[in-house]
Amino acid sequence: MKILTTANSKLQCALIFLVILALTACSDADTSAHETDALPFIKGVYGNPGTLLEAGYEFDTLGLNAIFVRSISLEDTLYAAARAQNARVFVEFPTLLGRNYVEDHPEAWPIDETGEQSPPADWFMGVCPTDPGFIEHRRDQLREILQTYNVDGIFLDYVHWHAQFETTDPILPETCFCDRCITAFSEHTGIDIPDGDTPGQAGWIMDNADPEWRDWRNYVLNSWVTDMKSIVRDMRPDALVGIFYCSWFPDEHDSALYRTLGIDVEAFAEKADVLAPMLFHKMKDRPAEWVSDYTSWLGNIIAAAENDPLVWPIVQAHDNPDVVTPEEFRQVMLEGSRPPTSGIMMFSDQALLDNPDKIEVMKKLYFEEIGEQGQR
Ligand SMILES: [Zn+2]
Repeated sequence: MKILTTANSKLQCALIFLVILALTACSDADTSAHETDALPFIKGVYGNPGTLLEAGYEFDTLGLNAIFVRSISLEDTLYAAARAQNARVFVEFPTLLGRNYVEDHPEAWPIDETGEQSPPADWFMGVCPTDPGFIEHRRDQLREILQTYNVDGIFLDYVHWHAQFETTDPILPETCFCDRCITAFSEHTGIDIPDGDTPGQAGWIMDNADPEWRDWRNYVLNSWVTDMKSIVRDMRPDALVGIFYCSWFPDEHDSALYRTLGIDVEAFAEKADVLAPMLFHKMKDRPAEWVSDYTSWLGNIIAAAENDPLVWPIVQAHDNPDVVTPEEFRQVMLEGSRPPTSGIMMFSDQALLDNPDKIEVMKKLYFEEIGEQGQR
């Protein structure tokens, strides 16, 4: 009886999730167009920009016209200061990051192909994206931000299945083979999966339905974007929806961008108002020119999209794993500001404070060299 109840409950969860996805997918077409023409070239900083204020700087005298603030760092004083100093407020939203959540809610822990909880991938711990409790948890958090602050935009971060890509040596586990995901996959595709234990079913899926499995995982991610976007549109119709995402080209790392992370950039381009590829050259051991190589490639993607997303890359200022010199920082900022981009930011405020020469580089770029000079 207990097993039956559990199976019914899982099926109900899967069905509720699918109904929610269908409802939100229907509303997406009505909410895709958005007014972005009036924006100036966006000159931003990412992280906890309040540290710049604490150090005695002001956003407008630094040449900034936008801040990109982590959700946990958003508070009244920072918000008011940004408004007073003519800086737009964009909020980073950690979509599928959730170490504390999965520790408190083991039913949401991603399950790997052995049937075990997938271990943390370096500092990253993802959450199973079909867990109904987690979906509600994130919806509530997003609503609370939008209710409290009249933000200029929400930037979804960590929109990917459990993995670690922000290193030269990526960690790419196979997830999620929890009973809920397997059931939802089977329901969505109509594929009958033979009875068995989790390793048996996971192996069967990857041997017999691998393309469908990858497509379904991508569909789940895209549904998250649609769902979060519908909440933003409902509560703050003028706010933009951006996505921070892994800037691997699709064929790198054995196509892990799609196969493992579940990301299809073309689909993101159809859903987001702003694409913010994370172009961290030092962490990925690339030359500065790689930044504009990527944005040029992305230009072709957005040119083919029916939607017309903006491109605002985030480039690296902080010293990891090696020093990023002020001149190197300047180079990646310039590379990242070429067309088709219409905005840029750097990771992060702390890197600027650690080396004030980088603040001088940023000021000169933002006042004299990038975008509409001096415009805010
Ligand atoms: Zn799962």
